Amino acid sequence: MSKPRRPRAVTTESGSTTGRRRPVWTCPKCGARLISKNLWHSCGTFTIEDLFTGARPGVVELARAFVGLLQSLGDVQVLSQKTRLVCVARVRFAGLYPRKTGFRAAFALRRWLRHPRIVKTADYGPRWRGHFVDIRSERDLDDELRAWLQESHDTVGIQDDIV
Ligand SMILES: [Zn+2]
Repeated sequence: MSKPRRPRAVTTESGSTTGRRRPVWTCPKCGARLISKNLWHSCGTFTIEDLFTGARPGVVELARAFVGLLQSLGDVQVLSQKTRLVCVARVRFAGLYPRKTGFRAAFALRRWLRHPRIVKTADYGPRWRGHFVDIRSERDLDDELRAWLQESHDTVGIQDDIV
């Protein structure tokens, strides 16, 4: 008696590009890294100083320290836009919204984080759960925030669920 042949799932999968990582596209005008060509984005050159016009002294420096933190997470692009700053790995996963006395740091996770520092959340589905933390001084840029940002980068940012 011959053994029944085991179906080879590999055969049906091969040649299919479904779910594969596509290369990212870079806007030739502003350098923004985008998941697909000609995707809408606030195209233009804004600086971090533009975002904090009218903010109290020291806030731009605080924002720069946050940018340094974001840049330490991996291969990321940090872009100042008209009303916010965004951080992109393969996709946008973190950023900030300026305030007069500081800024609101934003990051996305696959899970909901319950913590007193989380001042706001935004639900964009299970793959992009937005969390917001108010930053007012260098002390707020601590290891705890860093760990949340790293998790955000390592899951949402690099699209770890797409192989
Ligand atoms: Zn652009």
